[in-house]
Amino acid sequence: MNEVFFTDMHAKYGNSIENKLKKLLRKANLKSFIGKKELVALKVHVGERGNTGFLSHNFARVIVEEVKNAGGNPYITDTNTLYSGGRHNGVDHVVTAVQHGYSYASVGAPFIPADGIRGLDYIPVKIEGKHFKEAKLAAGIVKADKIIFLTHFKAHIEAGIGGTIKNLSMGCASIAGKQEQHSTSKPEIKEKNCTGCRQCYWACPEGAITMVDKKAVINYELCIGCGQCVAACNYEAMQAKWDSENRVYLEKVCEYAVAAARYLKDKALYLNFAINITPDCDCWPASDVPIVEDVGIFGSYSPLSLERATLEMVSKSRANERSSFKDKIMNGPNVFQEIREHIPSDRLLEYSRELGLEDEYRLIFVK
Ligand code: SF4
Ligand code: SF4
Repeated sequence: MNEVFFTDMHAKYGNSIENKLKKLLRKANLKSFIGKKELVALKVHVGERGNTGFLSHNFARVIVEEVKNAGGNPYITDTNTLYSGGRHNGVDHVVTAVQHGYSYASVGAPFIPADGIRGLDYIPVKIEGKHFKEAKLAAGIVKADKIIFLTHFKAHIEAGIGGTIKNLSMGCASIAGKQEQHSTSKPEIKEKNCTGCRQCYWACPEGAITMVDKKAVINYELCIGCGQCVAACNYEAMQAKWDSENRVYLEKVCEYAVAAARYLKDKALYLNFAINITPDCDCWPASDVPIVEDVGIFGSYSPLSLERATLEMVSKSRANERSSFKDKIMNGPNVFQEIREHIPSDRLLEYSRELGLEDEYRLIFVK
């Protein structure tokens, strides 16, 4: 049975959250996991410009210290984004990382974009999936001696669940890899609902939306399927094709995640930080009120066991009274499907399991 270590968010004098994170890492035997002088990637998400919900650099700082104590040589990393924004190329990405606290001075390790200056540096990794035979994974991740995933567990505008599966798939893919996962998820417009408010126009990172007779129109030649316009629309006029296409998108995400997890077997430690559980992902240039109360930090060497344990506990957490979604939260098995019924996000766990990842777990509490 795979072990999932868990510590809650209660803290007191002499036992801070940072201290509890260190205890969790020791329980996971970080010292024997890291070899002397190994290059150890800390896979983070530094947050899009304007986002305030992303994970604090202080967690990365603590882990950097522990990796150094174990004899490793840590670096902070993430992949460049498909859409234009503050992390689309290596230069902008480093600037955004520094603005969001991920500087050498704050964290004690350099930030190195995993897929290079233009998101082109990848290594093909085999996967026997329905949709892919290889995954284009960032070289800076594949070539690490060891990797620790620091995942902010929250909702996601396209995948429903923004957790470790998402971090392993889209988060480890080069720009070409992201493109092929997104290729079937382009939205469509329900014209009668469109008020012409232009929110989608402003949100589109690719300039793919124009306004014609006060209605939004998508240029599918430019659209990359990022879903930013869907999240921006308050009138249910901009809609992702959530039927077969969305299912295919979720399956593609799983195939990439499983390719990465298999390749990184025995090299990866996964952490989910179920705190500040926002309704949109950290790629979104704004952060709304969290949907449920903070839960805690989870860690495991088994990514799907970790994801399942985190989802189950987060789904039991009380709705945040100030959340825009508080009336939708019924404490069912998947809170993310409750707030976004149109995304069958259970499929992420189900298909990852079908592809061979184990999801059984034994929860071990760390105080
Ligand atoms: S955000 Fe929605 S309602 Fe506003 S212009 Fe775009 S599609 Fe129309
Ligand atoms: S999905 Fe929407 S926001 Fe993203 S590129 Fe296409 S039209 Fe633009």
